[in-house]
Amino acid sequence: MLVEKSRFPRRKVCGEFISATTMPVLEACGVAQAFDAAAGPMVTRVGAYSGDAMLAAPAHRNWGRALGREHLDTMLRDAAMEAGAVVLQPAEVAGLRRLAQGHSCVLDDGREITAASVIAACGSWNTKGPFAIPDAGQAASDLFAFKAHFRSCALPPGLMPLLAFPGGYGGLVQCDDGRTSLSCCIRRDALARARARHGGKAADAVLAHILESTKGARMALGNAVLEGSFLATGPIRPGIRKRQDDGVFFTGNIAGEAHPVIAEGISMAIQSSGLLAQLLIAGRAEEYATEWKSRFALRIRAAAFFAHLAMNGAGRFAGSALLRTAPGLLDFGARISGKAPMAA
Ligand SMILES: Cc1cc2nc3c(=O)[nH]c(=O)nc-3n(C[C@H](O)[C@H](O)[C@H](O)COP(=O)(O)OP(=O)(O)OC[C@H]3O[C@@H](n4cnc5c(N)ncnc54)[C@H](O)[C@@H]3O)c2cc1C
Repeated sequence: MLVEKSRFPRRKVCGEFISATTMPVLEACGVAQAFDAAAGPMVTRVGAYSGDAMLAAPAHRNWGRALGREHLDTMLRDAAMEAGAVVLQPAEVAGLRRLAQGHSCVLDDGREITAASVIAACGSWNTKGPFAIPDAGQAASDLFAFKAHFRSCALPPGLMPLLAFPGGYGGLVQCDDGRTSLSCCIRRDALARARARHGGKAADAVLAHILESTKGARMALGNAVLEGSFLATGPIRPGIRKRQDDGVFFTGNIAGEAHPVIAEGISMAIQSSGLLAQLLIAGRAEEYATEWKSRFALRIRAAAFFAHLAMNGAGRFAGSALLRTAPGLLDFGARISGKAPMAA
């Protein structure tokens, strides 16, 4: 049984890039063909835009493709239904009770579902209920996230550049139907400064801040047309959390969340769910927490390192200087963040 609280299709704050390393799980779920038919063009090069620097990895390879969350999430939900899952949507898991065998999930409408195994794949936004992540209070370093689609964007074909700008980072990628997705995170204090400088709504100020500070973004988005409106959310909650607890398994962001600077969160959510499914089927679910750590912990730590480099001035300066001399390091960064083939 699949319980989902929002109605689909729905947009989401997300860059929407899916690594090629995720394709085996999409194939196993029966959505690879639909994904291929709908997703944007192949991303063949990673890059970095910071200040006036516009850097691109020299090598071309298949890193993956991007697809709007309104399409991808609906495809995955429909594949679950076709595979026999009963879908309750919209419905929210509001409580969880341990039984002698298994669990009872209490829904917001009072219904109770008993299950031998519970998989919490509910992201990291819950602030109440059984899967709540405690609010850590406000800090200047809190990261707020924004996302929008643009048309007529002048991004070199196949290039997915990371945007590193004062107090934040983001990314541009061509996704489905000729659209380009711009997504980014910005520190609370940098957002306040951007709003004071540029005025307008938060998203307008963030876009103005990115365009003012990043030449590559200006060139790509100078004549682009915003489609619909910006979405905003936050603060995001990067970090490694529990993966298994008394018969409840955690996959995706609730188990561990990478800074979106590496654009790997959806892939890690899909891959960790695929890993858990394989282990449950094989009767080896007790190995999940350890196996999860060996596959995802390094990616989350690497993302934190890249995020901090991207957000502060000295890091951007050193990073750009290093990448100018050795642009191949962009490929290395992409590999270490998980864009190389998964461990068997
Ligand atoms: C700015 C930004 C850019 C990003 N760009 C990328 C990118 O390009 N590529 C990438 O791979 N990742 C990217 N990410 C990360 C990615 O969006 C997340 O890591 C990913 O969505 C996590 O998936 P998830 O399934 O764990 O959680 P979610 O996508 O948050 O899904 C959780 C689902 O559970 C439902 N839910 C929650 N609580 C309950 C409940 N109690 N009962 C029932 N349903 C519930 C929610 O409605 C939701 O549909 C980005 C993130 C940000 C902020």
